[in-house]
Amino acid sequence: MAYSQWRDVTKRNPCPICGKPDWCSTNGIFVCCRRGDGGGIERQDKSGGTYWLYRVDAGGIDYNPNNIEISEPPPSKDSKRATPDVLHKVYSDFKGMLSLSQSHKENLLQRGLSESEITLREYKTLPLMGRSRIARELGRRYGNDICHVPGFYLKEGNNGKSYPTFAGRPGILIPVRNFDGKIVGFKIRIDKPEEGEPKYTWFSSNGRPGGTGAVNSLHFPLFDGPENVIRITEGELKADISTALSGIWTWSLPGVNSWRLALPVLKEIKPEKVLVSFDADCWQNRNVANHLVAFIEELQSRQLGGESE
Ligand SMILES: [Zn+2]
Repeated sequence: MAYSQWRDVTKRNPCPICGKPDWCSTNGIFVCCRRGDGGGIERQDKSGGTYWLYRVDAGGIDYNPNNIEISEPPPSKDSKRATPDVLHKVYSDFKGMLSLSQSHKENLLQRGLSESEITLREYKTLPLMGRSRIARELGRRYGNDICHVPGFYLKEGNNGKSYPTFAGRPGILIPVRNFDGKIVGFKIRIDKPEEGEPKYTWFSSNGRPGGTGAVNSLHFPLFDGPENVIRITEGELKADISTALSGIWTWSLPGVNSWRLALPVLKEIKPEKVLVSFDADCWQNRNVANHLVAFIEELQSRQLGGESE
């Protein structure tokens, strides 16, 4: 049937999920979005690239379609990004080569984290100098794999030959962990953000030669306490601090519009209560407020005891 043919999205027909003109595809009934901006059914293609399926034929976007019968899976793309296992290995080695500066440590202590919490959560300083030496060493260990790890890319040297290095403004490097505790990315708290620049950005080399964009993922702080109450917030460092200080496992969404990403995991661990905790000024922004209300309604409809905090 005609709908089983996947077409790449274009500038004229961009992806209805992420709004971008490339990388994603659609067959008229389903959309295969490769950016994962919230919800959808997560799958992997033959090349190990992650994509998310949505149903779009009913005039709206179904973020959780059931009865997915696809005669032909979406074409595998060089998704560029390495698998979570490879990301974790490379990133673990990477952070092992970095240290935490005294001023960054003091910054974290001032936020209420103890020395042992700072050690446990493995914050580092993203340095300005010595980058190619570190990237070269990782390239020696992992070969081409590091070209598929967000943050790393190839820079052209004076002699015209490329060498590996990494991107990102100097700042505090904050590990972003998946549900299994693996490091699948980093956020950077930039030391001196320029005017209009956000204080926190992903460690990403998107758009650079041999570079890769970061995955928009939830962050699950390391935690071994009770799972009957879960708090959900926005901001990785905030989630770490909240987990450490309150003893309530606090997850971070990559954005308030990405709340659907949390549903599959919540469904699995079935907490008695989910506290949704966003900045009070969120409620001033109508679009954000709509997302929060929809999130809490969805939690309540799933008997997950969602409440705003
Ligand atoms: Zn998309």
